[in-house]
Amino acid sequence: MNPVESVKFIDFSAEDENLLLKIEDAVKDVVRSGTHILGEHVKSFEGNWAKYVGVVGAVGVGNGLDALEICLRNANVGPGDEVITTPLTAFATTLAILRVGATPVYADIDPDTGIMCLVSARRCISNRARAILLVHLYGFIDIMEDWQALCAEYNLALIEDCAQAHGAKYRDKMAGSFGASAAFSFYPTKNLGAIGDGGCLVSNDLDIIQNAMTLRNYGQKKTYEVDQYGMNSRLDELQAAILNVKLPFLDENINRRRKNAQNYFSEIKNRHVSLLRQADNADQHAYHLFVVKVQDRKGFSEYLKKNGIDSLIHYPVINSKQKLNYQKKLDPYGLDHAEDFSNKCLSIPISHLMTEDQQQYVIQVINRYERI
Ligand SMILES: *Cc1c(COP(=O)(O)O)cnc(C)c1O
Repeated sequence: MNPVESVKFIDFSAEDENLLLKIEDAVKDVVRSGTHILGEHVKSFEGNWAKYVGVVGAVGVGNGLDALEICLRNANVGPGDEVITTPLTAFATTLAILRVGATPVYADIDPDTGIMCLVSARRCISNRARAILLVHLYGFIDIMEDWQALCAEYNLALIEDCAQAHGAKYRDKMAGSFGASAAFSFYPTKNLGAIGDGGCLVSNDLDIIQNAMTLRNYGQKKTYEVDQYGMNSRLDELQAAILNVKLPFLDENINRRRKNAQNYFSEIKNRHVSLLRQADNADQHAYHLFVVKVQDRKGFSEYLKKNGIDSLIHYPVINSKQKLNYQKKLDPYGLDHAEDFSNKCLSIPISHLMTEDQQQYVIQVINRYERI
């Protein structure tokens, strides 16, 4: 056992050598194949991903943001419409709403999970509301019957932002299989990551799948026949081939994240460091991130850094407080929980590439922390 000197947030250099060789082989195949856009690799990955999520179809696109935009366009969300979402998310969530010309309406969050609060979301619904964009933040998915019921009651489209929730489950069903459609990102640090940008949207509605294939490819259903105002957002063959190699390891990697989370829950004991609510079922949460809350976050993260441990903040500024000026609405009761959360939250290493020794080291360092 080597003494641990540093723990990176994700140490890609620790990736399994056999996996890297397989990825290099897959890349060579694509280089030699002569087809680099919308070929067999994309098609087979779309089939594999739809099967994994348990839905009828998947459409590979350029990134998670584009997947979200296409989901919204498929739900006929446009100018004058409102979309209810959380302010505690990547700005891409907001950007997708803005790009279709709609107005984001920010609901507050549940302080124990960081996820959008259903009661607050209900307060945000006006007669202009068209959709709820639900982010399964950090890889956590919960109370999906309640979200579906709320959307049914007000005739809203339920769209899932699954960029952090690959492999997360609720009552044995995968994140991404509950809404009208769902968006995934394969940004390299996500639970399933490409070596570059990539994204996918999934749906159980074949019309949505068909339409998404048109939109990602200039708006042409057939080559040179354009009937929609589309975009260029195609998952490329290289990334699809790489994702096909990595997909069979996804469940194993997520289980390692779950084990790491379990260890944190049972072994972190420091009155200055609070943990979020643990998922009821062990296989529910995909633990894309492990988030703790600390009053003196700056001091705590500097203390970790001094001991060689990386940490990140998801997110230091809630979307509604960004400097960019755009039209938005907020829960009339305010966003106090989201604000407070964003001031205290800190993500500590949890990836499947972290060793047991490294995790034990992180736990020891955290348990020794004393607020100055
Ligand atoms: C990463 C992320 C996105 C955006 O994905 P990209 O592939 O970077 O466009 C959207 N929403 C959430 C919650 C994310 O974490």
